[in-house]
Amino acid sequence: MTYGNSILTSSIEYLKGVGPDKALLLQKELSVFTFEDLLNHFPFRHIDRTKIDLIRNINSNTDTVQIKGTITHIEEVTQGKGRRRLVAYLKDSSGVAELVWFQGIVWVKKSIQVGKEFLVFGKVNYFNGSVSIMHPDLDSVTNNNAEGYSFLEPVYSTTEKLKARFLNARAITKLMAGLMQQIDEKDLPEFLPDTIIQKLGLPNRITAFRKIHFPKTKQEYDNALLRLKFEELFLLQLKLNRAKIVRHRQSRGYQFSIIGEHFNNFYHNYLPFELTNAQKRVIKEIRVDCGNGFQMNRLVQGDVGSGKTMVALLSMLMAIDNGFQACMMAPTEILARQHFEGISGLLKDMPVKVGLLTGNVKGKLRKQVLEDCLNGDIQILVGTHALIEETVQFKNLGFVVIDEQHRFGVEQRAKLQQKNTIPPHVLVMTATPIPRTLSMTIYGDLDTSVIDELPPGRTPITTVHRYETSRGNVLDFVKEQISEGRQCYIVFPLIEESEKISYENLMRGYENVKAFFPEHLYNIAMVHGRMDQETKQRNMDRFVKGEANIMVSTTVIEVGVNVPNSSVMIIESAEKFGLSQLHQLRGRVGRGAAKSYCILMTSHKLTQDARERLKIMCETNDGFKISEKDMELRGPGDIEGTRQSGLLNFKLASLVADKDLMEIARNLAENLLEHDINLSLPEHERLKIQLQNKKGKTYWSKIA
Ligand code: ADP
Ligand code: MG
Repeated sequence: MTYGNSILTSSIEYLKGVGPDKALLLQKELSVFTFEDLLNHFPFRHIDRTKIDLIRNINSNTDTVQIKGTITHIEEVTQGKGRRRLVAYLKDSSGVAELVWFQGIVWVKKSIQVGKEFLVFGKVNYFNGSVSIMHPDLDSVTNNNAEGYSFLEPVYSTTEKLKARFLNARAITKLMAGLMQQIDEKDLPEFLPDTIIQKLGLPNRITAFRKIHFPKTKQEYDNALLRLKFEELFLLQLKLNRAKIVRHRQSRGYQFSIIGEHFNNFYHNYLPFELTNAQKRVIKEIRVDCGNGFQMNRLVQGDVGSGKTMVALLSMLMAIDNGFQACMMAPTEILARQHFEGISGLLKDMPVKVGLLTGNVKGKLRKQVLEDCLNGDIQILVGTHALIEETVQFKNLGFVVIDEQHRFGVEQRAKLQQKNTIPPHVLVMTATPIPRTLSMTIYGDLDTSVIDELPPGRTPITTVHRYETSRGNVLDFVKEQISEGRQCYIVFPLIEESEKISYENLMRGYENVKAFFPEHLYNIAMVHGRMDQETKQRNMDRFVKGEANIMVSTTVIEVGVNVPNSSVMIIESAEKFGLSQLHQLRGRVGRGAAKSYCILMTSHKLTQDARERLKIMCETNDGFKISEKDMELRGPGDIEGTRQSGLLNFKLASLVADKDLMEIARNLAENLLEHDINLSLPEHERLKIQLQNKKGKTYWSKIA
């Protein structure tokens, strides 16, 4: 039972004014089964009943009003087909307003009388100086409300079926008011520690519930809302952070106790550049994690081009130094090959054997790879999700890298972890930064590292938006760049690889490009999902080697592809792409020393949303900023990988609007757990009970 013998657990049927029939409806329509459920049916807005308007001041800009006056006369008008209308004229010191009803006329006639004074509230229709209010809320004037009401009136969501049984918004308000009179502090005891209440200046729990429904002022409402949102976020953060700490303490992992020959040899002799400070810091974090005897589960967030691959490689060398094998999983064949080639190249003078396994490694070769993996010859195995298959067995896998994480599900991650007796360490690298509030929620149980610095010497990419009408200029510009030895991408949207229209667009685009860049002068490569693997690879190689000047492709090149000599990215029908995808695509250029450009091509017809996206792209190169904007525009539910998490079902809080509060909640949760991981101190007793009670409800069950 949630609250001991609190009245809140009572069936809604027993609330005054409800009864069995209405209870059934409330259950069906609003999922309100108990007093507590009703209490948690929060108003979606409040009406200001604290002031009275003069009829004379109403104009065409007026939305809703509260007026006070006397009924001067009432008339019933019959319109064709038996439709009736009741009109009452209300006069105040400044003018007259018409009150109009089409329904419930019998009931209205009973409650209004000429000569009586009423407070009237409703939505105004203003036409040519005349004011009418349809189906207004009506209260006869008493001593209590003669000057208007002294509060903000809640408005509750309801449904047509409820309204048909007289449970409109106002009726629910009445039920709620009745409920308020029956509850007191013992029903909603405080569970937040005093220190937090003091620090944030929050109202206590019972006050918050009273005031979120019936505030006297906006301030009271705001305070109540803050308190209840905080409570939601704080409990979530406690839960997530506790899970993380418990995992740290319990999940045994392989201890990488040394930094040995492979790491040092590579670091001092073969590292092609100085690491950025951010890369150094993250590598150190990984080293500490792998050295403490517990299993690592770390998420590395870094903008495109921030150098995540090198962090992964150094970590894998660390694993080898300690006698383990490592593997690295990439979401596409192209990317896996590229990693394989890049890593093989970097390690070519070192005694490390690197293997490649994808769906296209077949026959004898595949057999050999599997064998070498099992007997331990291969020390680093790079591949696609083919790595997950059961036939892939390691002698002693100690470290797993998952690149561009959002393409892999949690289950796939788990399968890789099962490839040794003790689960290997796991390093997850994100494709694009995700907003911090989101990562705190969906990856709250992982440790996070951020590479917040780009390698030096990069000139920022210039991004522009161009319409179809300037295509000629754009292509001329590409010619110029090619004459300077640079390469160019032209990307077409392909929502699904199989989709016919996009495919035709791509082919038409390809023909157009060929027409503009004649074959005897230019070398054009094309890659798309309908090609067989070999052709795809051959064309990709031509571009990577610098033989092809232009790469025409679909988004298969979106993730990770690295050709530093390319300096122009043209994105066709850019309005069809989401922000993070645009940012990923743009990240294919600006990887070398040359100044790079991203050109977003669109037609003139654009939605407001698309315009906003293009504008953001032109304004900033910062992936973290872009991900925040993306979340603002689309809401957290649509950000890749979050939908299935089920963690975003907040009642009041919002990841977008309340990101600062989330941060505060997290810090406070961390602090508290640092002192009292099991919530066993007396001042945390109520908190513990609250957390236990929440189990099995909404998001709690999904985290555990
Ligand atoms: P991402 O984080 O997007 O996976 P990559 O690992 O592909 O980025 O790195 C992008 C490019 O930057 C590569 O060409 C890589 O060699 C280069 N790079 C990585 N770290 C550094 C560094 N510290 N200094 C200079 N170049 C670097
Ligand atoms: Mg990468």
